[in-house]
Amino acid sequence: MLADKDRIFTNVYGFQPWNLDAARKRGDWDNTKDLLARGQDAIIDEMKASGLRGRGGAGFPTGMKWSFMPKEAPKDQHGNPRPSFLVINADESEPGSCKDREIMRHDPHKLIEGALVAGFAMRARAAYIYIRGEYIREAETLFAAVQEAYDAGLLGKNAAGSGYDFDVFVHRGAGAYICGEETAMIESLEGKKGQPRLKPPFPAGAGLYGCPTTVNNVESIAVAPTILRRGASWFSSFGRENNKGTKLFQISGHVEKPCVVEEAMGIPFRELIEKHCGGIRGGWDNLLAVIPGGSSVPLVPAEEILDAPMDFDGLKAVGSGLGTAAVIVMDKSTDIVRAISRISAFYKHESCGQCTPCREGTGWMWRVMERLREGKADKSEIDMLFEVTKQVEGHTICALGDAAAWPIQGLIRHFRPELERRIAEREGTLQEAAE
Ligand code: NAD
Ligand code: SF4
Repeated sequence: MLADKDRIFTNVYGFQPWNLDAARKRGDWDNTKDLLARGQDAIIDEMKASGLRGRGGAGFPTGMKWSFMPKEAPKDQHGNPRPSFLVINADESEPGSCKDREIMRHDPHKLIEGALVAGFAMRARAAYIYIRGEYIREAETLFAAVQEAYDAGLLGKNAAGSGYDFDVFVHRGAGAYICGEETAMIESLEGKKGQPRLKPPFPAGAGLYGCPTTVNNVESIAVAPTILRRGASWFSSFGRENNKGTKLFQISGHVEKPCVVEEAMGIPFRELIEKHCGGIRGGWDNLLAVIPGGSSVPLVPAEEILDAPMDFDGLKAVGSGLGTAAVIVMDKSTDIVRAISRISAFYKHESCGQCTPCREGTGWMWRVMERLREGKADKSEIDMLFEVTKQVEGHTICALGDAAAWPIQGLIRHFRPELERRIAEREGTLQEAAE
């Protein structure tokens, strides 16, 4: 189990105040000027050496992403330099995910200091924190914490006495899940309808207002100052190759004590649940399946997840993914077909509608899922549904199409007998009624 001294988020439960005084006592904003004095390249090299992979779900190496930002400002058509931007993705909407909420609620200064450090490293002039519209209290805390940082001279002109000018803006979303996709977020910040753009170009080439932009998740940014203070080798001493560091896990569903907890990457599933959640409701024999990384990843049946290391590679090996590390635990009381059908309804509702496989496919898949739930489908439709998920997967502009397809694939792969049982049961009932 991760020792308390190795936790980055020491106020994740809000036992202490979030404000600047309390944050300083926890070590935030401690000689930030000296961190910046190391220079941009040294900061990026340290982040690369730490092995931190993006904590928003995709796991792209953070230091490498920062290094894509131009060292020389590109020029516009009139020869004027164009600014670079950092966009912080706080539009946490993945079902099951609630870690960024806890950071913004109880430790906002970690995020704001991280914004300055990361923004400086990538030569950005400002950071935009795009926060989920439903996070009303968290937005209030964030607005107040940013103001505190300005009042203390930590942001704005000569931020933290570094000689670097840096602004942070908080922007509230309006309730669309798709605005969490990085290019849809950029469109939304520009005042347009939140719809993903085709990539490439990636945001580092053409992002906000066409300028070089990096979009990072809240947790990825909030851990950066601690990594720089304690050193890349300290952070990379946790976890294993390709899966380094500590991570916030969010465990919900049928455990005794649902919680958000920071642990070392790669902690085995059983240990995570035993140590922090008091075990499975009704005991381990009562575990049915787990969605280990938020609703976008396939479920894993009980017997396959028990010893799985909770990291990118460990969960890939059992046919799923770490995603946001939102661990949704389902015991044997769960109607698993209904649970996945509900996820299908979510993606249907949240599809932005600009590409046909997603717009049409999400609705089609959900309708078949509902018929399967009621046992009203024909048995041949199980294979047909699987085939449709394959037509959606990889054929859309953004990852929402994949996210809608994968949970259904997981269900068919692992729970086909349950789907067939429902169909047979209903057919039996109809036959009995006819006789
Ligand atoms: P992605 O793999 O397309 O991109 C990940 C990041 O790496 C992006 O910032 C992208 O710009 C960058 N990148 C990837 N390849 C690059 C390249 N060749 N050059 C430069 N930059 C490159 O994934 P995505 O669509 O951004 O994210 C999908 C993930 O988001 C899913 O795995 C899901 O778990 C997660 N998700 C999270 C939430 C949430 O609430 N946190 C919500 C929905 C989805
Ligand atoms: Fe929109 Fe879906 Fe296409 Fe993504 S995959 S761009 S959400 S229609």
